[in-house]
Amino acid sequence: MDDDPKLLRADVFGCEACASLGFGFSRLRPDLPLSKFPPVIGSSSAVPLLFIGTNPRISNTNQDLYEEIMPLPDSFDLLAQDVWRGRSYLRLGDPGRHYDLHVAIAEQAFPGRPFSSVAAVTELFLCATRDGNALPRSGSLCADRYLDRVARQVQPRIVVAVGARARDYLASRRISGSAPFKSCIGDLVVPVAAIPHPASWGKKGLNEYIQWAADIIRTTLDGGTTFRQPPHIESRGVGQRQLAAWLIHSDPSLTAEQLTAQLAAAFPPPAYNVGPRHGPHYLSLYRTGKLEVPDSDPRDW
Ligand SMILES: [Zn+2]
Repeated sequence: MDDDPKLLRADVFGCEACASLGFGFSRLRPDLPLSKFPPVIGSSSAVPLLFIGTNPRISNTNQDLYEEIMPLPDSFDLLAQDVWRGRSYLRLGDPGRHYDLHVAIAEQAFPGRPFSSVAAVTELFLCATRDGNALPRSGSLCADRYLDRVARQVQPRIVVAVGARARDYLASRRISGSAPFKSCIGDLVVPVAAIPHPASWGKKGLNEYIQWAADIIRTTLDGGTTFRQPPHIESRGVGQRQLAAWLIHSDPSLTAEQLTAQLAAAFPPPAYNVGPRHGPHYLSLYRTGKLEVPDSDPRDW
């Protein structure tokens, strides 16, 4: 069966579809498959809630995770069941505490229920990268191949998309609605509550989005059809400063002209007026320590 969890995991584990794409995908050793995450972490059977994020990251603090799961399909299988070194990976194993958000939303929507009994997590790109900088701005080969199979396995009644890329990908499969909108995944039409990447939130914004997502989940499961509007949070937005800092940080050999060109592409006229002095200006700010580097690509927020 094409949606059998073990078969899906095995197909993903050995998948080399992204190998020639670049995008920062990598492998630990030539004899190992591309480093990636299981297609689903959490429940391997039907649960109401599916989270879709951007992609797994490789950092200095979680490198050992890939060293355990990529040579060993059994460890990869255990991670899919949210077990890593005998503990819950989603609750405890992620040094960046990225999944605190998912856990908080599930707890808010399903008080007292274990995460894996109500929710599962997947990513738009299952292949891992050091950061999101090189990932394509739209589309995902991993999702084209596997997201429908993930949806047939999880049978979600509601999807929470975390970050701009997951939102945009699901919007490309939109059937109706706005916030939440309904998208077609697997053989289902499912409401999608899109929330910004946690890096773009303050603490207050974070809590308001957790409440909103939990509201949408409860309304959907109660059969409701009218949804509360998403919170209007004073967003940090994507500023030129932040993007410039991120671009220089990600490519230390970036020239002033290249920086100007990338900023101009991200902030196009007529709304913006990026000129030739912008690149040199931000480069000199960066070199004198006056630009704060965000911890993820601001374009994902
Ligand atoms: Zn891939």
